[in-house]
Amino acid sequence: MRIENEVRLDFKDVLIRPKRSTLSTRSNVDVSREFRFRHAQVDYHGVPIVAANMDTTGTMEMARALGAFEMSTALHKHYHVDELTAFFAALERKSAAFYSMGITKSDEERFDRVMAASGAGADTAVRHVCIDVANGYTEGFVRFVARIRERHPHLVIMAGNVVTGEMTEELILSGADIVKVGIGPGSVCTTRSMTGVGYPQLSAIIECADAAHGLEGHICADGGCTTPGDVAKAFGGGADFVMLGGMFAGHDECAGELVERDGRKYQRFYGMSSRAAMEKYAGGVAQYRAAEGKEVLVPYRGPVADTAQEILGGVRSACTYVGARRLRELSKRTTFVRVSQQVNEVFGRA
Ligand code: 5GP
Repeated sequence: MRIENEVRLDFKDVLIRPKRSTLSTRSNVDVSREFRFRHAQVDYHGVPIVAANMDTTGTMEMARALGAFEMSTALHKHYHVDELTAFFAALERKSAAFYSMGITKSDEERFDRVMAASGAGADTAVRHVCIDVANGYTEGFVRFVARIRERHPHLVIMAGNVVTGEMTEELILSGADIVKVGIGPGSVCTTRSMTGVGYPQLSAIIECADAAHGLEGHICADGGCTTPGDVAKAFGGGADFVMLGGMFAGHDECAGELVERDGRKYQRFYGMSSRAAMEKYAGGVAQYRAAEGKEVLVPYRGPVADTAQEILGGVRSACTYVGARRLRELSKRTTFVRVSQQVNEVFGRA
């Protein structure tokens, strides 16, 4: 047994220190980014915020709505092959949607069928995939990423989840363009209480971004953002992309069931390894495992466009406070200060 005494940080432990700048209004801030991916050698241009590939948020409706903001959506894993083929064929901005898969034989076969139906390599095919598992530390996972890379040299591969620099490097060297970072920070995740495993998300982002950027790779911070300020902190910490579940939950474009309680509307939102999800797809929680996610009711919030605007407004304003003309400059201009209190809660939480 060993103990690491160096403090690791979560979003709530820091604030971004303002800096003198010549920027006058936040409307001047460019929140889009351009990347060239290490393996795929494909150029990306867009606003690097991604809706999570959860049943509720990873919908085609979400991809269309967020596409209007140049954002992306990682589709959930339960669409039919035909639906996916038609969707990807009609998709104009290819980075607006990621195809998601796990690492089982059947995940790979399904992906092959989608690629075959749309003519792999053709303009109509899937160009971006998200290969994700709860624990990205297994050899089987690394081998799977390497095999997909070998079979599809120009596919943009996002792979995860991990939380440490050495595993970020291993995934990039094995074929991932973007490493997805986060174990346990999610809003409907119970991994930390069920297993005691995890890593404070802001430090995970800082350490993994540093490792990835050294290899010309990229990272996607996944989980734990609860406010636009957290999104700004994730970018400030070096995240190239930020994936959001809970912040995009509760909208018209989500697949969650609407329920009414005491005259108020709510929407069901659940973790992908919650009992709710396992019962839906696997006919229950297998005996050898426990659920590591939960189900909650989130207040219904109308169209996601308003939320997307609000997030972008927050990120732009953060850039203005530190004098970053573009999102690209935010992390260079970020100094985090550690705090013992972030917000004044005398009238409740905003
Ligand atoms: P959020 O933005 O809601 O804080 O986090 C979203 C992320 O939580 C997802 O992208 C995914 O990585 C993670 N997640 C989703 N469902 C579950 C679950 O059931 N268990 C765990 N451990 N993580 C989950």
